[in-house]
Order: sequence, then structure tokens, then C-alpha cells
Amino acid sequence: MSGPIVVGGGPAGAAAALLLARAGTPPLLVERSREARDVVCGGFLGWDALAALDRIGVEAAALGARPIGRLRLIAGRRSAESRLPGRAAGLSRYALDAALLRAAAAAGARIERGLAVRAAEGLRLRLADGAELTADALFLATGKHDLRGLARPREAGGDDPAVGLRARLRPGRALAAALAGTIELHLLDRGYAGLLVQEDGSINLCLSVKRSRLGAGPEALLASLAADAPALAARIAGAEDAPAWAAIAAVPYGWRTGETMPGLFRLGDQAAVIASLAGDGVAIALASGRLAAAHHARAGAGGAPAYQRAFAAHAARPLRLASGLRTIAEGPARALLPPLAGVPGLAGLLARLTRIGG
Ligand SMILES: Cc1cc2nc3c(=O)[nH]c(=O)nc-3n(C[C@H](O)[C@H](O)[C@H](O)COP(=O)(O)OP(=O)(O)OC[C@H]3O[C@@H](n4cnc5c(N)ncnc54)[C@H](O)[C@@H]3O)c2cc1C
Repeated sequence: MSGPIVVGGGPAGAAAALLLARAGTPPLLVERSREARDVVCGGFLGWDALAALDRIGVEAAALGARPIGRLRLIAGRRSAESRLPGRAAGLSRYALDAALLRAAAAAGARIERGLAVRAAEGLRLRLADGAELTADALFLATGKHDLRGLARPREAGGDDPAVGLRARLRPGRALAAALAGTIELHLLDRGYAGLLVQEDGSINLCLSVKRSRLGAGPEALLASLAADAPALAARIAGAEDAPAWAAIAAVPYGWRTGETMPGLFRLGDQAAVIASLAGDGVAIALASGRLAAAHHARAGAGGAPAYQRAFAAHAARPLRLASGLRTIAEGPARALLPPLAGVPGLAGLLARLTRIGG
């Protein structure tokens, strides 16, 4: 036995590692990327994510996160703006993930970067270098990527699964001014795009579209935007470089599980995948890491089933609501949403209800 092992160093794994270490059970965390890097994510941190980060001593503002106070919703030629009900921010995952892993290491977790876990058999792990490790408690935090042996069900993504795309853009002056202090969401046929400014002034552009809409790939998708999302096409044209895309296939939005086996704590996207339109995946990842570490502190590896049930219950409402919003936002009724977002208090209420924190 080798003590607790965390697989994956995104927000869920790093938060769990940090809190396990602070509770006196420092884990080994295995992360396959050699260095911090951007991942497919919108970079939006809501007030619940910011509060969760504050609680563990990682201050987003100190990392240069750009404050966001407004939501701009655009569908076709309709657009509306509303105030968000809380303080939000734009921060790249490059900066966030690196800071969380630094904090976990400072708390006493052992971080092994550049090492992938290939497969799991129960709590036994096979690493890419051929080594084997056995955990007494396994914290599965591989996020968007499934681990052989513990994969989420293949059908979780549905018949026409979502594909996530992300690019970092250098904005021209007009684009930077238009996005200052704002999260901008463009609703598309079978998808959406989000734009915000991150700590270094670059723009994070993320897109989530159903596979049927992606068609021949990102270039074909971009070419098709002029028809149903002219404002988004204009935003992309306002950048100083063409997008270089990173992609993730078959995102199983809405999937969550309350089941596990003794010793296995599923965290973050491996426990619950909220529709990314709600911008709450990082908060959910942090909340799962925190709850899992608390159950482990109370009951050791045997606390996994109770943790998994409790977390599934906790995540149920935001996931359900975000899935409902996604269905409307990506369907023919999406043109109704900008006028509704202009109704005082309504967008704020929906934003609050899709938060894991409350
Ligand atoms: C298009 C899109 C936009 C989004 N926008 C937002 C947003 O604006 N705000 C928000 O809060 N959420 C957003 N989300 C959701 C958010 O990205 C996820 O919910 C969040 O990243 C989950 O965190 P995690 O730690 O569970 O997993 P991840 O962030 O996916 O981290 C998993 C880590 O595990 C590592 N790993 C994977 N497999 C292995 C292995 N076999 N061995 C070792 N290491 C491994 C990976 O390298 C990675 O570092 C978005 C999602 C998508 C698809």
C-alpha cells in the first residue's frame, strides 16, 4: 500500500491533494502533462469558484484574474446585457492549475509531473513507464479524459455528443475594449461560444458544439458562423491572429454518478459534468476535492461511497438546471433568451441557481 494517490492535476485533483496534505495524509499526485498548459475551458470563474479558491488560500486576483461583472448574451442579431449577481473573473487554466499545484506541493503533497496513468484495476494503477502502484485510497481526477478500467459509460455523451474547442487570441484594441469586465456568450445552432479577457490581456475563446454541427472541423464551423452568429464571426475577425484550436471530443454534459467502490473517490468531471455554458465546472471540481478530502479525513478510504452519494446530491440541482438552459440555448428558441436576459434580476437568478455554492 502506498497511501492516497490522486490521478490528475486539474482543479479537482490539486484541491484534493492540497486538503489531504493539510489533513495529515499527504498524497502522491500523478499528472501526465510535464508543464502547466492551457486546457479546453472557458476560463470563467464564478463567485463560488473564487470563494472556494480563497478558502484554500489561492487568491485569483493575485494571479492577475480580470474582474467580470457583466454578462452579454447574443443570439443571431439580438443582444442583451445584465449585471452578474456576484464577483466573477477571467483566468487562464495555465495560471490557475499551476497555482493550485504549487499550493498542493507547499502543503506537502508529492507531485509527479510528466507521468501518465495508463489503466486502473480497482485501486491498482499501471503507469506509462510500466511501474505499478497500489493506492489505499484513489482520487480519480482525470477530468475530461477517461482512465481505462474506470471510464465513464461510453453512452454518457449521448447520440450527438458535444465537442469542446478552445483558442487563445490576441485582441485588437476594439475587441479588448468590448470584452472588458464582461463574459460574452454567443448562442448558436447546436452550440455556444464564450469569450473573456484573461490575466495577460489575451482572449479565451471557447466553443462547445454538437458533433453534427462541427461537421468537417473547426475551419468549416468558423465558415458557417456568418449565417447564424455574425457577431461571433466579427469578434474572431477582430483578433490579431487566427485561432489555433485545442479540442476535446464527446463531453458527457449532465452525467453524474453517486456510485463508486470502497476506496475510490471520483472527483470533478469524473463525478459530475455540468453544461459548460453555466461556467461552473471549476467550482464543482474544487467542491468535490474539498468534500472528498473531508470524507477521507473522517472515515479514511471507507468514506468513498458516502462521499460519492453526498456529492451527487449536492451537484444535482445545478447540473439539471444547466442542462435545461443548454437545451434552450442551443435550440430554435435561443433567440428568446437575450430579451429575457435583459429582464432585471432574471439572468442573475439563473446564474445563482446554476452554482454549486448556492
Ligand atoms: C468547452 C468548455 C468550456 C468550459 N468553460 C468553463 C468555464 O468557463 N468555467 C468553468 O468553471 N468550467 C468550464 N468548463 C468545465 C471545466 O473545464 C471542467 O469542469 C473542469 O476542468 C474539471 O476539472 P477536473 O480537475 O475534474 O478535470 P481537468 O481540468 O480536465 O483536469 C484533469 C487533469 O488530469 C490529467 N490527466 C488526465 N488523464 C490522466 C492520466 N491518465 N494520468 C495522469 N494525469 C491525467 C490532465 O492532464 C489534467 O491536468 C468548460 C468545459 C468545456 C468542455
